[in-house]
Amino acid sequence: MPTWLTWMFRPQCAACGSLATTLCEPCAGTLVELGPACPRCAEPTTAGRLCPRCTTVPLPLEQILVPWRFGGQLASAIRRLKFAHKTHVARDLAPLWAPLVAAAASSAGALVVPVPLHWRRRLRRGYDQTWLLATHACRTANLAPPRALLRRIRDAPPQSTLSAAQRLVNLEGAFEVRDPRPIAGRTIILLDDVVTTGATLAAAAVPLIAAGATAVIGVALARATSAPG
Ligand SMILES: [Zn+2]
Ligand SMILES: [Zn+2]
Repeated sequence: MPTWLTWMFRPQCAACGSLATTLCEPCAGTLVELGPACPRCAEPTTAGRLCPRCTTVPLPLEQILVPWRFGGQLASAIRRLKFAHKTHVARDLAPLWAPLVAAAASSAGALVVPVPLHWRRRLRRGYDQTWLLATHACRTANLAPPRALLRRIRDAPPQSTLSAAQRLVNLEGAFEVRDPRPIAGRTIILLDDVVTTGATLAAAAVPLIAAGATAVIGVALARATSAPG
């Protein structure tokens, strides 16, 4: 291979671009595991107890699984993917959550469905980062490719600008099912890049359940405690 090609395709740290695979050692050192969290919605709680919301008004999802806290160099990597056109980051980060996606999708006939961007936002960005993350996570986990079974029908204001209460209202009816046929009787593994309150995953789960999904399990790469931007 010519030197420039070797250089172009050299493995890069997803966060800082230095020579390394996935994350270089200093960047990987900033990864923080989610730790004890609500078993339904992944909100950090003492001793992994059910959070107050889930004991009163649980989300429509069976559970939300998240391996990491949003922060440190993982946050930098996700920002590079979303805002700096570094699409290779989706591949580089795949090993960080593929095992969890695989575990969630272990029930027979489970389908992996990424939470889609609104077409206008995708057009502006040129790609849908969650779709890319999902594609590479499935490939790394030896799963069938993700399915584009949802459509975002409202280009709601970014969740990061809103309070928790506004988030739920903001997203009501934001998603619809593109094709109900493959969904009935299946477990759907709903993937997103970053989860905060779970409002986006919940809004996306509603039409899937209405279309006959037996269960919806959310998996995100990172959990933010406040707006990730
Ligand atoms: Zn690095
Ligand atoms: Zn909870």
